[in-house]
Amino acid sequence: MKIHALTTGAVRVKHSFLFPSSGARRQLDLFTPGPFSDPLPIHCWAIEHEGVLRLVDTGETAAARNVPFARFEVTREQELPAAMAEAGLSLGDVSEVVLTHAHGDHIDGLVHVRTRVLCNETELRFARSTMARAMRRILRQPLPPGFGPDPFVLDGGAFGAFRSSRALTEDGRIVVVETPGHTPGHVSVICVDDAGRHVMLAGDATDTLEQLHARRADAIAPDTAVHIATLDTILAHCAQHPTVYLPSHDPESAARLAVANTVRPDELAREDHFGVARPVPEDTLRRP
Ligand SMILES: [Zn+2]
Repeated sequence: MKIHALTTGAVRVKHSFLFPSSGARRQLDLFTPGPFSDPLPIHCWAIEHEGVLRLVDTGETAAARNVPFARFEVTREQELPAAMAEAGLSLGDVSEVVLTHAHGDHIDGLVHVRTRVLCNETELRFARSTMARAMRRILRQPLPPGFGPDPFVLDGGAFGAFRSSRALTEDGRIVVVETPGHTPGHVSVICVDDAGRHVMLAGDATDTLEQLHARRADAIAPDTAVHIATLDTILAHCAQHPTVYLPSHDPESAARLAVANTVRPDELAREDHFGVARPVPEDTLRRP
């Protein structure tokens, strides 16, 4: 099995997106002026296994419009076809695409894709809800033209600490698990690598590994309790299985994949004991 980190440009997000305040201001602060982060990668992932090439998410395109809490830095030359070429791969060889969730920076690259696309049924239902439609209109972020993935359900029983899963391969080494929070139908994909480690392609389950350790719900999650319960499940899974945790926008994800750096249980215990987030490094903040 070989997993490739693909990068389709970058995004700067508002500080209040990465470190939301609590209560009513959690979402309000997204729309008021504030500092932005340095550019964070917009990753998607290619998995080569048993002669089959799969993608998890498809990244962003140059057509993406900025929103009050995110500024996109994506050129045509950074879109999915070029990102794949950089990894020595070709879009024409992809036989299946799995989406972690239906946000533009994960699905807009579908304009380049002609193959089968899979999306959790719960996520598709949410993406078609009145609320989600209204948000896309307000933020001027339409679904990509012709968006119509095949829905799937997580009916494969438990996988590690996750209650619901669905294997994508017969050998059970590529498994979709439920990670609701950021969106109600958000999923992650766990690949059991050749050394038996669990490589978790976590989408936006969190933005960073730090956010996972801090057990901090994000500013987008419709229900923060659901999000935190998912973070606890991920942490429990990491304690059961050596897990390489790879969120889509963590600046350290590509390096963690390259060296197969697993989440450290001692670090979990320490963070969990204090139950606090690490302070924001000054250099990750930037005045707009
Ligand atoms: Zn994202």
